[in-house]
Amino acid sequence: MPHNRALLGIAAKGPPLAFVDLKAQYARLKPMIDARIAAVLARGDFIMGTEVGELERALSGRAGVTNAIAVGSGTDALRMALMALGIGAGDAVFVPAFTFTATAEAVLVTGASPVFVDVDPLRMTLSVDDLAIQLKRVAERGHLRPAAVIPVDLFGLPADYAAIRKLADQAGLAVVGDAAQSFGGRLHGVAVGALAPITATSFYPTKPLGCFGDGGALFCDDEGTAAVLRSIREHGRGEVRYDIVRLGINGRLDTIQAAILLAKLTAFDAEIEARAGIADRYDARLTGLVQTPLRPPGLRCSWGYYTIRVAERDAVRQVLDHAGVPTAVYYPRPMHLQPAYRMHGEREGSLPVSEDLCAQVLSLPIHADMTDDDVDRVCDALVRTLRAGA
Ligand SMILES: *Cc1c(COP(=O)(O)O)cnc(C)c1O
Repeated sequence: MPHNRALLGIAAKGPPLAFVDLKAQYARLKPMIDARIAAVLARGDFIMGTEVGELERALSGRAGVTNAIAVGSGTDALRMALMALGIGAGDAVFVPAFTFTATAEAVLVTGASPVFVDVDPLRMTLSVDDLAIQLKRVAERGHLRPAAVIPVDLFGLPADYAAIRKLADQAGLAVVGDAAQSFGGRLHGVAVGALAPITATSFYPTKPLGCFGDGGALFCDDEGTAAVLRSIREHGRGEVRYDIVRLGINGRLDTIQAAILLAKLTAFDAEIEARAGIADRYDARLTGLVQTPLRPPGLRCSWGYYTIRVAERDAVRQVLDHAGVPTAVYYPRPMHLQPAYRMHGEREGSLPVSEDLCAQVLSLPIHADMTDDDVDRVCDALVRTLRAGA
């Protein structure tokens, strides 16, 4: 598509839209959030205070698991899950090449080796077929022990856990779900948090449920695993306070962040409903013009993202930006081609679906305070851009 003046002439109509509007959300929930924060300030129990336990009970109820462990970030959650599984040097951990950096980083900080796996072109999550291929390769080479797989629920759509868990069971792989982008969703009636034996999520401010800083959580049913995760969260402590019984980290969630999350949880279902309405409106306008998000039967998505696939993505993005429509590219570079991770991956061209997606994905604005007019503005600008360029 040419970067011509006619295209850039697709004029802005009104002030720029927000991509995710945290200010509008705060304005809507201010009395509750402020009261929750004030209660913590008044008590002063900033570390492992009352709200942390209250939040964990609320989260485990939502996820339908017996244990939720509130932690400092989604990245810590992933790392702690791998630590609890005893994963380290000599272990192969299979991760999608098309994901946020933290999935691969969590593997590397344990000393294990990430093995990058391609993704499904429509679902955009871990390809079960490629997982089988990569497992065979690792077995043939014989220098790494296949230890775990981390399916990622990219853009809110849970990975194909049924098929992945079947293959993982056969191969003796542990499964850790990276649900940083999917919390609040369900697949065939099973909540995100209960789809894998251990699930990690993030409360980064722009995630489906976000706090006002860094935060995350782990979910599991197994009591032994939960006890180990709670110990790792506090430097590997034992039953007695300053007994250190394993290697741990400082992985706690601040009480103030827990308090904010408790306030935001009261609006979470309504926000998911509002975002689902926006996704439906986008679908109605854009289906047939671009590749819209896959919606397998039985999916209830939390819609923290609405990601389309378009050719000439960078040119389209430039025109939209000019029209006051902010977009994001999650993610521009696959993990196997990251300068810091390259030595663990194969050359360019080895994971073609991930590489193509990095060139073509475009995430559109979606948040609970977006009006139908806002959605139409995005669609009008996008449709005109595509027509003008095609
Ligand atoms: C955000 C994210 C993480 C990391 O979460 P943080 O809370 O930012 O550490 C991990 N994986 C995926 C897929 C993410 O989107």
